[in-house]
Amino acid sequence: MTKEIYEIGEIPPLGEIPKQMYAQLIRPSRFGEPSSAFQMEKIDIPEIAPDEVLVYVMAAGVNYNNVWAALGIPIDVIGARNKAGEPEEFHIGGSDASGIVYKVGSEVKSVKVGDEVVIHCGMWNQKDPEVLAGKDPMFTKGFRIWGYESNWGSFAQFTKVQDHQCLPKPKHLSWEAASAYMLVGATAYRMLTRWGEHAIQENDPVLIWGGAGGLGSMAIQIAKAKGAKPVAVVGGDDKVDYCKKLGALGVINRKNFDHWGMLPHWKDEEAYGKWMKGARAFGKAFWEALGEKRSPRIIFEHPGEATVPTSAFMCDTGGMVVICAGTTGYNATIDLRYHWMRQKRFQGSHFANDQEAKGFNDLVIENKVDPCLSKVWQFAETGDCHQLMRENKHPHGNMSILVNAKKEGLKNLEETKQTQG
Ligand code: NAP
Repeated sequence: MTKEIYEIGEIPPLGEIPKQMYAQLIRPSRFGEPSSAFQMEKIDIPEIAPDEVLVYVMAAGVNYNNVWAALGIPIDVIGARNKAGEPEEFHIGGSDASGIVYKVGSEVKSVKVGDEVVIHCGMWNQKDPEVLAGKDPMFTKGFRIWGYESNWGSFAQFTKVQDHQCLPKPKHLSWEAASAYMLVGATAYRMLTRWGEHAIQENDPVLIWGGAGGLGSMAIQIAKAKGAKPVAVVGGDDKVDYCKKLGALGVINRKNFDHWGMLPHWKDEEAYGKWMKGARAFGKAFWEALGEKRSPRIIFEHPGEATVPTSAFMCDTGGMVVICAGTTGYNATIDLRYHWMRQKRFQGSHFANDQEAKGFNDLVIENKVDPCLSKVWQFAETGDCHQLMRENKHPHGNMSILVNAKKEGLKNLEETKQTQG
């Protein structure tokens, strides 16, 4: 007889779905600091639609989006879903995972029960006529980030995803390492490869902000794998060696400069002149780090308000600043004179489509990109690791949480069963 619930790490027979599961839930009454917003609860396992898959979660990656979900700002993800007609008054976050397919919907052909997978976080309406006609699903109305905009993410024993989100788990990685890289990696891959003539090419000088962070550590390795010339920016000398080991040709410490923030008005000659001096000195530091006097053809942006003026100024003639976030603020100020005369591109980018997620996963499978796993947490510590991230005290690279895998280093179902029983 099917059990009501399995304890964490107690592996159900392949394909058996109990009635309930343990999950780390956020409820509106707990919105606030992540350390108390997340609480372990028992909850019914959801039904799946014909194009969906239920995955038994071995490990889950940690991303900043669920710090926002816990706080309930800038959007209340639970209220937004309730308004759209979804009844659950809770949020199960988690936008990265590794695990095993336990159940597939009637229309699913791409995966089967027993497949060991990693999950990418892009969801869309697969029946949308625009998607069926071949439009990039990232540009369609139904696009959502699983485990943030959608419910039933990876901070639970089982997660509900669409079939196309599942990709083969790299066999050489542990469950926890396999769960750490996809969200940041696929985002960085789209930024560097999607944008037509600005797709990264061999020998391209590339400037990468936050080189020791989640996105930056992936971007350095992708650039290296494509034969480009990455130069990283960091906020402390302790991160220099880390970026060099990943493949950065040179590393700049941004703390040696002080011209950050929005551009002064161009009519304020004194302030503008001071800013320009700082921006030129930073450009010179780039040439020194690169080892030749060439400006970056691609600038990998995400800090936003603090750094965009410099990025836009130092980008090469005909080059591109590509941006996926505004961590320091949303006012992007650009001196348009340099922008049009030097014919630069300022390109927004957001997560990735199936081809890009696969392109990135293949680099990991080929061992050209390391997941940069820095710290592994227990399932009960889900709130604590998000709290650390909220306080910006998290270590370099990416963190993950053991969910049904109870020990580090396990790589497949057989090994896990033998160790955990
Ligand atoms: P992370 O691991 O915290 O790294 C961000 C890096 O930004 C830090 O390592 C820090 O490096 C750097 N930074 C902080 N303040 C800065 C400043 N004032 N000037 C320049 N650099 C600064 O975060 P992440 O995972 O890489 O994510 C970065 C941002 O991208 C977040 O806002 C996240 O929500 C967003 N994101 C968006 C997408 C998308 O699909 N749109 C996907 C993933 C992430 P140093 O202090 O060493 O310089």
